[in-house]
Amino acid sequence: MNLEALRAELQGLELADDDATRATYGHDESDQGDFLPALVVFPRDAAEVQRVVRACNTHQVPLTPVAARSGKSGGSLPIHGGISVSLERMNRIIAIRPEDLTATVQPGVILGDFQRAVEAAGLFYPPDPNSAPYCTMGGNIAENAGGPSALKYGVTGDYVLGLEWVMPTGELLKLGKQTIKGVAGYDLVGLFVGSEGTLGIATEITVKLIPLPKVVMTALIPFTDVLAAARAVNAVLLAGLLPRCLELIDDVALEAVKGKGVPFPVEAGAVIIAEIDGTTEEGVFAELNLLASITQRSGGLEAQIAVDRDQRERLWATRRMVSPALRELQKFKFSEDIVVPRSRVPEAIERFKAIGTSLGLTVATYGHAGDGNLHTNVLYRSVSDRPRVELALEALMKETVRLGGTITGEHGVGIAKRKYLSLEQSPELIALQRRIKVLLDPAVIMNPGKVFPDEP
Ligand SMILES: Cc1cc2nc3c(=O)[nH]c(=O)nc-3n(C[C@H](O)[C@H](O)[C@H](O)COP(=O)(O)OP(=O)(O)OC[C@H]3O[C@@H](n4cnc5c(N)ncnc54)[C@H](O)[C@@H]3O)c2cc1C
Repeated sequence: MNLEALRAELQGLELADDDATRATYGHDESDQGDFLPALVVFPRDAAEVQRVVRACNTHQVPLTPVAARSGKSGGSLPIHGGISVSLERMNRIIAIRPEDLTATVQPGVILGDFQRAVEAAGLFYPPDPNSAPYCTMGGNIAENAGGPSALKYGVTGDYVLGLEWVMPTGELLKLGKQTIKGVAGYDLVGLFVGSEGTLGIATEITVKLIPLPKVVMTALIPFTDVLAAARAVNAVLLAGLLPRCLELIDDVALEAVKGKGVPFPVEAGAVIIAEIDGTTEEGVFAELNLLASITQRSGGLEAQIAVDRDQRERLWATRRMVSPALRELQKFKFSEDIVVPRSRVPEAIERFKAIGTSLGLTVATYGHAGDGNLHTNVLYRSVSDRPRVELALEALMKETVRLGGTITGEHGVGIAKRKYLSLEQSPELIALQRRIKVLLDPAVIMNPGKVFPDEP
């Protein structure tokens, strides 16, 4: 690795190699540890990104794209050192086109800012990871991020039409389309969305938009028991309702947020947050009442309905508190994002709790139960508990796959889950993906060491 020669080649670009900046870019939200880059580069346009990538190829220096570092699988961590390429300076909303129902942004645009800009134009961009106030559009593309509204509206990849993309070898490509439909050539947008920063760098993103739903109402439905709550989720969907969100919070997670957000009834051992959107107040209210009566037949207590924006925001703020609040319950945690077929959610929750009990660990489960995507958290108090935690995580992943599920629904594999990939995917499938990686990145310098298990 010839860093000095590389630095000389990058003259004129914004660079930082002070300890504080390197430490900042060596850490994300994955709890995978710290991996410091030698240098952080802040390109301002696609041409500068190309310069960085070409120089890294010339000098055989690994590079890792990085944005807001909210990732939960360690995707932005430069585990082999080298350069971190921050896309944060490329943060311009290029166009919102109401008539075409499309928008084009640079990758460093903060999702929450984009959502607000789109809503001001009467439009809606549904992907809504709970990190929206700080995560970026580029990070969302790379992880194919989802969120509570994926139940009705799908995930990031369902909205990406076109990409401007710097390949790992430095070429700049325009992929996909600027129109709502278009099937020319292979679906390379589909390959690059979710590629976790290993197949190149997004420098411009075109997404589709939809009309903004006029009315949104949210209900909090308490249950005494988490399994009854999980069964109620299925009862709602089987009854033919398609809420925008059906979130579940279990007893451990409820305990963690107690006294911090909206108050829950004392007898609550779990809650569902259900949200319905539509065109008229009457229609949405009627659907929400129907949902409340279905959940009551499944053991739900009286639903509390939030009708205005403030009440809704307080409910969602409480939901967003769950992850940090769990960390206050015990000092450390691993947060998984497995998905099981919807019909298996109650069984999965039961099995995960049993795994925790058998190893003397607390397991909390919350998340997007409506689409089977559960954030199962293994909590622990000290690093000496790590061997038991590793056993619990492996058992949890095996159980997920046995139930017909997947090891990650939205956070990506990164380094956090690469050792579990072979539980879910065959050696042939992993080998095919490795071949694609090497075809596009022959020098293997673009975010190396991510996604795939170590070579045998
Ligand atoms: C409290 C909290 C709640 C969260 N909730 C959700 C949730 O509900 N749903 C969900 O899906 N995720 C969630 N996340 C995870 C995280 O926010 C998402 O994965 C997000 O998409 C990461 O975006 P980022 O800008 O922080 O990217 P980073 O973490 O900086 O990077 C993530 C990956 O993207 C790559 N990357 C970044 N920019 C580019 C680019 N321009 N081109 C190519 N690759 C790039 C990096 O190399 C890395 O592999 C949550 C995280 C936190 C901390």
